[in-house]
Amino acid sequence: MARLTRMPAQTALVCTISESTFTLTSHLGHPISAPRIQALVDRIFPFYWRKNMSVGTIEELFVDELKDLYSAEKQITKSLPKLAKAATSPELKDTFESHLKETFGQIERLDRVFEILGKSPRGKVCNGMKGVLEEGAEVLEETEKGSTVRDAALISAAQRVEHYEMAGYGCVREYAKLLGQKEIAQLLDETLSEEKAADSKLGQVAKQVNPAALQEA
Ligand code: FE
Ligand code: ZN
Ligand code: FE
Repeated sequence: MARLTRMPAQTALVCTISESTFTLTSHLGHPISAPRIQALVDRIFPFYWRKNMSVGTIEELFVDELKDLYSAEKQITKSLPKLAKAATSPELKDTFESHLKETFGQIERLDRVFEILGKSPRGKVCNGMKGVLEEGAEVLEETEKGSTVRDAALISAAQRVEHYEMAGYGCVREYAKLLGQKEIAQLLDETLSEEKAADSKLGQVAKQVNPAALQEA
């Protein structure tokens, strides 16, 4: 028989485990009903979890997501040259190359954001972007080199990247506004506009590429 006693805040619980029964009683020996146990668990556990978490406030969430975006942009600078190289349509190549240049500028903006905050941009890996970019690399294995279908698939992969970034920048821009970080909100908004423009440029290129891919036998 095991006996455990926990006393967080003003709550005292006695948990008794014998061979086949499990009962919870208050420190005065009164049995505790199931809904009451649930209510206690809901109240006590988040308290313990939060103590071990690094993101407990909007400020911390803001920095955490900025680090995530920093990692995402760094990964993109390594991937975009491969996508540009794999593209056949000159317009698509050009779209990738000019967005690569823009991406370096976006990293500079994030550097400035971290400078303002007095924090390091390092310390996080964006696993979401890692996955999205891995799927982009799969396109090269799945499609034939020089085919227009490959171009169509590259556009689809790249638009996923842009949408992922748009979601990220949209969120941090709103946190920045909320936290009264006007300059940061402005910087993030500039990048968000670039991501949106890149997405719509890819959409335009697709209007040429996709019908051509349809014709490809
Ligand atoms: Fe970007
Ligand atoms: Zn991420
Ligand atoms: Fe982008």
